[in-house]
Amino acid sequence: MTHITDIKARQILDSRGNPTVEVTVFVGNITGTASVPSGASTGKHEALELRDHNKEYLGQGVTKAIKNIEKKIKPLLLGTDVMLQREIDSLMIEKDKTENKSRLGANAILGVSLACAKVAAEVKGLTLYEHLNETLLLNRNPKMPRCFFNIINGGKHADNKLSFQEFMISPNFSSITKNIQAASEIYHHLKKDLHEKYGKGTTNVGDEGGFAPEKLNNAEGALKILMKAIKDAKYKPGRNKNQIGIAIDCAASEFYNKGMYKIDGKKLSKEKLLHFYMKLIKKYPIISLEDPFEQEDFSSFAQLKQWSDNQKNKNHKIQIVGDDLTVTNRKRIEEAIEKDSCNCLLLKVNQIGTLTEALDVARLAYENRWKVMVSHRSGETEDPFIADLAVALGDQLKAGAPCRGERTVKYNHNLMNFSIS
Ligand code: PEP
Ligand code: MG
Repeated sequence: MTHITDIKARQILDSRGNPTVEVTVFVGNITGTASVPSGASTGKHEALELRDHNKEYLGQGVTKAIKNIEKKIKPLLLGTDVMLQREIDSLMIEKDKTENKSRLGANAILGVSLACAKVAAEVKGLTLYEHLNETLLLNRNPKMPRCFFNIINGGKHADNKLSFQEFMISPNFSSITKNIQAASEIYHHLKKDLHEKYGKGTTNVGDEGGFAPEKLNNAEGALKILMKAIKDAKYKPGRNKNQIGIAIDCAASEFYNKGMYKIDGKKLSKEKLLHFYMKLIKKYPIISLEDPFEQEDFSSFAQLKQWSDNQKNKNHKIQIVGDDLTVTNRKRIEEAIEKDSCNCLLLKVNQIGTLTEALDVARLAYENRWKVMVSHRSGETEDPFIADLAVALGDQLKAGAPCRGERTVKYNHNLMNFSIS
């Protein structure tokens, strides 16, 4: 028996203390439970997260989404074969009938979609990553992802003056165990270095577990202290094997206003910002830049990518990642492919609202020789779903700092559960 016999949903709290959706799907007495993350620097074109907007939880409740699961999605899916993920997701999309899933709520639809995948894996007797890998229909074997650890937080994720949202390190050893160890050691050296340089109050952490120092107020200052922490921990910063690469999520839409970028106390045109990125790439071992320009500016992304592609020095050929630009949405990704804006897709399942659509665009990215970085949200839960998804794709994972339970649950899941390399 593989048909859905019951669906239950409830309101839980996410890592920022806001309500979110948790769903359990039943196939007889076998169950799969999944919960839904939530962004802060959300892209304009993301699917809609349905909130109550009433007096409870400052309007952030998700009881309308829960009701939609109980009253509309459950009757629709009862009796459906849980192995048919595409059909399940299509039924919910058809019932919703909107472009951005605003009737049922992308949070309602996604919770059910992910919980179905989990119970299907259980029914098959496979791990979730094996099941997702099979469902993907990719000719790729599951593999441990390259991890990106966000250890300095700014932008919308912190109450400080840094304009860029995420400063990440990405150790490049061949084992995930060693990569997580290096990230943890560098993280603790960074704590010590920040304390020594800026004094008390600088090592409180932001939404994703990275430090959010109040007195560190510019990008180069952050890069310099990251370099010091890497060296203090006895690792080599760099872009090669056994070295530590640096990645930045600029989340530029958040500091863009009327044609200008307000960054680190200055106002820069897109041309000036482009030159700033060129300088940083030449000076620091940056391997990946996410959302370097605002979410409608496909052509500035393309200019940076082309400059990087054309560099003779292979160290300056970097990864340009679309997040707010592409929002895990086929149409936006097709536009970015056509305009040559990126070479890596940030994959966030809740930006689009079903697992099938997310897996389809991952395939689209690979068909166009892009990389795929599976990503958490700044508001997370204790669900390690994305850890399995990243192993199923065998590519890249960003899941925050090696600190705070909702972040470490993803890294620990990969550390503990998988014997594959
Ligand atoms: C991001 O921008 O990549 C991110 C994880 O932040 P948020 O979830 O706030 O969009
Ligand atoms: Mg981003």
